[in-house]
Amino acid sequence: MIVSKRAAGIQESLTLAITAKAKKLNDEGVSVVSFGAGEPDCNTPDYIVDAAKRALDKGYTKYTPSSGIQGLRQAICDKLKRDNGLTYEPKQVIVSNGAKHSLYNAMLAIVNPGDQVILPAPYWLTYPELVMLCGGIPKYVKTKESDGFKMTAEQLKKAIGPKTKALILNSPSNPTGAVYSKNELCALAKVIEETGIYVIADEIYEKLIYKGSHYSIAQYSQKLYDQTILVNGMSKSYSMTGWRVGYLAAPANVAKAIDGVQSHTTSNPNSIAQYAALAALKEEAEEKAFVGKMAAVFDTRRKYMIARLKKMKAVSYYEPDGAFYVMVKVKKIFGKSAGGKLMMSAQNVAEQLLDVAHVAAVPGEAFGAPEYLRLSYCMSDKDIAEGLDRIEAFLKETK
Ligand code: PLP
Repeated sequence: MIVSKRAAGIQESLTLAITAKAKKLNDEGVSVVSFGAGEPDCNTPDYIVDAAKRALDKGYTKYTPSSGIQGLRQAICDKLKRDNGLTYEPKQVIVSNGAKHSLYNAMLAIVNPGDQVILPAPYWLTYPELVMLCGGIPKYVKTKESDGFKMTAEQLKKAIGPKTKALILNSPSNPTGAVYSKNELCALAKVIEETGIYVIADEIYEKLIYKGSHYSIAQYSQKLYDQTILVNGMSKSYSMTGWRVGYLAAPANVAKAIDGVQSHTTSNPNSIAQYAALAALKEEAEEKAFVGKMAAVFDTRRKYMIARLKKMKAVSYYEPDGAFYVMVKVKKIFGKSAGGKLMMSAQNVAEQLLDVAHVAAVPGEAFGAPEYLRLSYCMSDKDIAEGLDRIEAFLKETK
């Protein structure tokens, strides 16, 4: 059977390739330390799990409205008001199977074949694939580490052409951990207003900020609000990656179009997970306690990672202000060898790091950052220390 051009065009994920190799080594009895994870390493908190159990006991096991139960959509509106100062009505909110699904829905709703979508690089690796699945064309804008990996208003202005439909903005960012300040976002917003393009604002790491604070670009003005599809979800803030609940908030006509798409593709997200998400957002005291504690743990690990990386002269790093990743620049070791193999790219470095030191990291080629490795700190302090010891030894042995 011949697969469609659309399906054949999907890039094999470099992340999955490294993860598969790491798993194979583990299965062979080798202890691999993985810096590859993209999810919190703690359990979903009890107050959320208990709400799911209650929903099961009450028999909430049937179809719900395809865009989510009214209570959850209202709770999301309340959250957007409380945290972001944004006013939405439930009919503007669509709950989906994870933020990834929300992003896909958002693009399906606004991207026509041939439209360009601006992606500041480094970018989360799923964005280009989703753009292309919708027939769009990713337009990459390379950001500089010296600009904190943030796109400037000048860069944005220059990138916008007659075919530009939208910008995908991710703050805090995966993979860099960069957090745009309010001033930086306002400068971008001005260009967006002037040019009339749309913004898909992916705010999924909103609660994991260690320096600075979060600002939603839709807050800038009524015009910007009308040009924005805001995406967020439960995965990272509440350690709920497996539950698959994400959402978007958009102008009512866009939400209506997305409701139509979702009703014919997936229907509603899992009913029990929706009740869990409702508790996650509504039980504010529990929420604050959990998120505060988790963010503090990540911040301690972040500081430890930075302190250790600072001592490794063969590499440099970008100090992240949010999310749970550190970008480590490995360009200086291109042209050197480890385990008898020459390393000419981040992918080669990741392969040798895994083969020789049994450490898994994601090569930056996956994110449009070919001189870097992405290290996540979603693992125990002990594993982080062990992994960094191994990286240090590996770097000493490269020649
Ligand atoms: N957006 C970004 C930047 C992410 O890193 C992720 C997950 O890694 C997602 C969206 C999707 O999250 P989920 O589909 O689990 O809600």
